[in-house]
Amino acid sequence: MMSDTQAGTALFDDAQGRLEAIFQRLEANGEVRRRLAQPALSLEVSIPLRRDDGSLEVFRGWRVQYDSIRGPAKGGIRFHPQVDQGEVTTLAFWMAVKCAVVGLPFGGGKGGVCVDPKTLSPLELERLSRGYLRAIADVIGPDRDIPAPDVNTNETIMGWMADEYAIIARRQVPGVITGKPLPLGGSPGRVAATGRGALSVLDMWAKHARREPGDLRIAVQGFGNGGYHFARLAHARGYRIVAIADSRRTLHHPEGLDPTPIWEEKQKSRELKGLVYCEEAVRCEQAGTRSGDAEDILSLDCDVLVLAALENAVDTGNVEAIRAEVILEIANGPVSSEADRALESREVTVIPDVLANAGGVIVSHLEWVQNRCGEYRDEEAVNRLLEERLAAEAAGVFALAEREGVTLRTAAYMQGIGRLARAIQARGNCQEAG
Ligand code: GLU
Repeated sequence: MMSDTQAGTALFDDAQGRLEAIFQRLEANGEVRRRLAQPALSLEVSIPLRRDDGSLEVFRGWRVQYDSIRGPAKGGIRFHPQVDQGEVTTLAFWMAVKCAVVGLPFGGGKGGVCVDPKTLSPLELERLSRGYLRAIADVIGPDRDIPAPDVNTNETIMGWMADEYAIIARRQVPGVITGKPLPLGGSPGRVAATGRGALSVLDMWAKHARREPGDLRIAVQGFGNGGYHFARLAHARGYRIVAIADSRRTLHHPEGLDPTPIWEEKQKSRELKGLVYCEEAVRCEQAGTRSGDAEDILSLDCDVLVLAALENAVDTGNVEAIRAEVILEIANGPVSSEADRALESREVTVIPDVLANAGGVIVSHLEWVQNRCGEYRDEEAVNRLLEERLAAEAAGVFALAEREGVTLRTAAYMQGIGRLARAIQARGNCQEAG
């Protein structure tokens, strides 16, 4: 069993290892390679938390700005017991690539706290969120580094953090954080944006492959914000959601499931008890639904496997079991690079995270723009702008993959790293880290 720190370092090395082939194809100079080999800033903080029973606990947290080459660092904050510096650094690096792939004027950042947030009361969670924000306040700002939600953080938590920042700054600075609640300057459409974006990229793939939604059976691993909104919108578009899994259970129905009642059932105990997180596992009353272990989802007979849980969900240990023809990555880094190679040799199409899950940060960008100009758009306009940007950037990736005869991941990285390389080169010879 690897320690957390080793796991994070291994994740980072794996992510960096994928760049070799990209640099060879791009023929970018060695300086670009060296610039992208380590983060520009990595801050480790400790966050003291007074528990409700009066005791004191101290948690470790990080904020990493991988780069600010194309704009301020951008990326979410994760609360999870497995968070470590290597994981946060890797996630910040993926944000840098993602923002460049979809042409946003942002660099890459990420934050995290090593905590199991489900063991905290709502007030403890609020104190921890505010404490973390205070600890990183000196390095963030609307022109510097803009946090957002990630695993186990949501608009409620972003609202507390935005409020804490306003207290420190002694003025409202809504553009310092995105994914906020609507009354605090959040954007309509932000909550569903990651799932909506993933669906529009899947639609593009289906059109390209001349496949009809009704003929595609989809299995969704991970039933958090991204997985649920994807499943809900895909079901409405006519795709068949044949399976849904959370961290405890897989639900399977060959004829298709409606994701919304399953989601509502899961939310019930949370709403009743005034909690921030769900306590229930997925369940379904629909006749004919089979229930199995969480891992069963990976080996189900389906056409599209959606990975919306955590990194390395698919690795060398389980890749052989996969029967899907397409994998859609809504989580960040859900397929290890070795498993990726195995999928490529079996001609399984992988629609990569840096494109498939970019909807969230695209609408974060729209939120940031709205906060800075003080004029707000309605949800329809936000969804249209999201889809227009993704359509244009995904078309670039699909065309590059075809022209170069490479996977969609390689093509997406070529598009993103190519943009980063051009920005690095344009900055001249005496640039600083950032
Ligand atoms: N955490 C999300 C991601 O990994 C959103 C980041 C953002 O909106 O800044 O893309």
